[in-house]
Amino acid sequence: LPLEYQKAIPVLKKLENAGYEAYFVGGSVRDILLNQPIHDVDIATSAFPEEIKQLFPKTIDIGIEHGTVLVLENDEQYEITTFRTESTYQDYRRPDHVEFVRSLEEDLKRRDFTINAFALKEDGEIIDLFDGLQDLEEQILRAVGNPHERFHEDALRMMRGLRFVSQLGFKLEEETFYAIKENHELLSKISVERINVEFIKMLLGNERSAGIHAFIETECYICCPGLREEGEALLRFAELPSVPLKEESQAWTLLISQLDLKENEIRSFLKSWKCSNQMIKDVQALVQGLRQRETGVLEPFELYFLGKEHALQVEELMTYFDETPQMDVVEESYDRLPIKSLSELAVDGKILLEESGKKPGKWVSEALQSAEKAVVEQRIENDKKQVLDFLSKEKLI
Ligand code: ATP
Ligand code: MG
Repeated sequence: LPLEYQKAIPVLKKLENAGYEAYFVGGSVRDILLNQPIHDVDIATSAFPEEIKQLFPKTIDIGIEHGTVLVLENDEQYEITTFRTESTYQDYRRPDHVEFVRSLEEDLKRRDFTINAFALKEDGEIIDLFDGLQDLEEQILRAVGNPHERFHEDALRMMRGLRFVSQLGFKLEEETFYAIKENHELLSKISVERINVEFIKMLLGNERSAGIHAFIETECYICCPGLREEGEALLRFAELPSVPLKEESQAWTLLISQLDLKENEIRSFLKSWKCSNQMIKDVQALVQGLRQRETGVLEPFELYFLGKEHALQVEELMTYFDETPQMDVVEESYDRLPIKSLSELAVDGKILLEESGKKPGKWVSEALQSAEKAVVEQRIENDKKQVLDFLSKEKLI
């Protein structure tokens, strides 16, 4: 067992000594079996939330109505969730009510795919009620139980399936595949925020191309914001060099570049995906930078406005346009810029007002911008006298 699990064994023991069942469950068990690093240790137990809280001195209610208690033990945090069934599905969405049960089997039955439905005991025994081990071996994603029913219960599972195709490089089992294809329209019942999370995980997966192909073939893309008519653009996206993407903002940028959105369409596209304002700002900058970069290396002024981080991310994206990114060239060019922001300019508004004796007005920011550009382009030095001479020659002060 990996170290994270070994550290958590006393937590399981404590529950068992009190007469409850307790297991490791969820994606981390799958990841251990795949020899992949794990991010979170999830524990499932027959103890009810109140019972968990009585056993552990430090707990935080993070989703007690869903049966999840966060337990703080040995400087670590563990999400402990009571065995549950989800009995009252409404509108194809995850239910708001869950029923706590004492049976592990009931809990595993409500999980999405066979490879996500293992339970692992602290002695290393794997409980595999749905032949997930065989599917893991054959690299197959198979819904637990009847796929149609499962996607009707919670349509998000379809998007989860597609992102696992991309993350794991597994194939959708045939019945599961056709159930997604037939039910893809149920995705419109799911909140965009939840679809967004899975969509981005799909685009950032190691097998992005396989994920996007499955996204197209199951027709799920039709029910995603702004993609209804974009099957061909998505296909082009799938055909790009298969280097994995690192950042969400880069994924959106590459997608937008395939969709060929106009500058004024980017914001509403990302808004329709419920992206944060910060994400929208970053992506707008990256798309603009990429468009400038595609016609040749960035001019100093373009580099200056883009900023170092964005410029490096843009450079990284050149991989997908069959150019080798030259990260150190960008880094050096950026470091050579005479100023990195307006605050470093040798003059400011106050100086301009004093020197000119004119009244404040729009001319101040116009003059500053011209000086900023001239300094960045090294037409003049960043020196107070040179800047002022330049501005009076240009009749800007
Ligand atoms: P990741 O590695 O990205 O965390 P994961 O499989 O652990 O993937 P989580 O969202 O952390 O995904 O969920 C943990 C577990 O809960 C899953 O492995 C699965 O057993 C179950 N699960 C999560 N979402 C659903 C769902 N919509 N329907 C059924 N089971 C789900
Ligand atoms: Mg997880």
